[in-house]
Amino acid sequence: MTLPVLIEPDLDFIAQISSDSGLNLKKCYQCATCSVACTISHDDRPFPRKEMIHAAWGLKDRLIANPDIWLCHNCGDCSTLCPRDARPGDVLNTLRKMSIKEYSKPAAMHRLFNDRRKLPWLFILPAMIIMTMGLVTGLMNLSPGGDRIVFAHFFPVPLIEMIFIPLSLGVTLVFFQGIRRFLKDMQATDARLGKTAPGPLDLKRFLITLITQLPAIIKHEQFSFCSENKGRKISHMMVAFSFTSLAFVAGAFVFALYVLNSHGPYDQINPVKILANVSGIALIAGSLLLIRERRANARQTNGYFDWYLLGLALFLGITGMLTQTFRLAEISWAAYSMYFIHLLFAFNLVAFLPYTKLAHLVYRTVAIAYYHYTKKEKLSPHS
Ligand code: SF4
Ligand code: SF4
Repeated sequence: MTLPVLIEPDLDFIAQISSDSGLNLKKCYQCATCSVACTISHDDRPFPRKEMIHAAWGLKDRLIANPDIWLCHNCGDCSTLCPRDARPGDVLNTLRKMSIKEYSKPAAMHRLFNDRRKLPWLFILPAMIIMTMGLVTGLMNLSPGGDRIVFAHFFPVPLIEMIFIPLSLGVTLVFFQGIRRFLKDMQATDARLGKTAPGPLDLKRFLITLITQLPAIIKHEQFSFCSENKGRKISHMMVAFSFTSLAFVAGAFVFALYVLNSHGPYDQINPVKILANVSGIALIAGSLLLIRERRANARQTNGYFDWYLLGLALFLGITGMLTQTFRLAEISWAAYSMYFIHLLFAFNLVAFLPYTKLAHLVYRTVAIAYYHYTKKEKLSPHS
């Protein structure tokens, strides 16, 4: 006997997708060309056709906690081949943004990122926090002087720690809560649809799956299957590796300071310094390539959310390299000023990590691991 299915559309959700993506969801007539065109869509869980009908019906619970929207790497192949110009790739991109908004709390933070008129506040707020901390503690020295330009004389390491350690802990907590709810919702939805057996997540097996998937994620293997935007793999990898290696560089300098009692500035031929410089250049070059590719792809929907991260990555790299250039040129006022601006971009990157597009690194990794985790316990291939 076939059980009747009750569809309860969330009209606000439909309106939100349409306004965020600028697309008409009614264009899709369910031909499934997109699911056939998508080379990374899996046989047991094809997408994005089903996401298109779920979006048109306003089935929020089947989309926001849906790992399939994160398997998509936004190559645009499906959008190019869609006979109705319904732009399924862009709809999935919008759903990912809505998923980040759903899981990274508080929701008020997202309002800062959905309104370009609030952009100045994303720098005014960090400037106010950094200046207040620096002046209240008395650690910030606005006229460092001396023969050499040493940033620690202007902005000492304890002050950086006082600002960035609590910030990083807060961001980790936001992600922890978001991932916990995301996993719970994915499980609940799959169990309700009969795709997986109900029951708690086997954390050990999930973490093993996550670790085994990491090499493929790091190597951007899925990007190789795309044809429309294949070149994006290089630029995307350049930016991703720059962020990772710059985080490693920061860790290495902390290690040098506390364990080896070694203070900067370091020689340009120091291996860690070389890595920092190469990463800084790769960050600028990768960001510029991504911007060029986005601009060239006029058919792709590019929102403020997408541009914000690219701009942030680009200026983080530029201010970092300029800071060093001014230091080497011994123009102290320019070096210290640029260092402060660079700190603002770094603060912005860390503090707002769960709310910007960069959060997709975390949610996509979790979703891919969850997909592979559930593959072994599928009950039914149908959605
Ligand atoms: S989005 Fe386009 S290709 Fe996909 S099912 Fe709808 S009409 Fe067909
Ligand atoms: S944008 Fe690319 S990866 Fe995403 S669903 Fe379409 S074809 Fe698949």
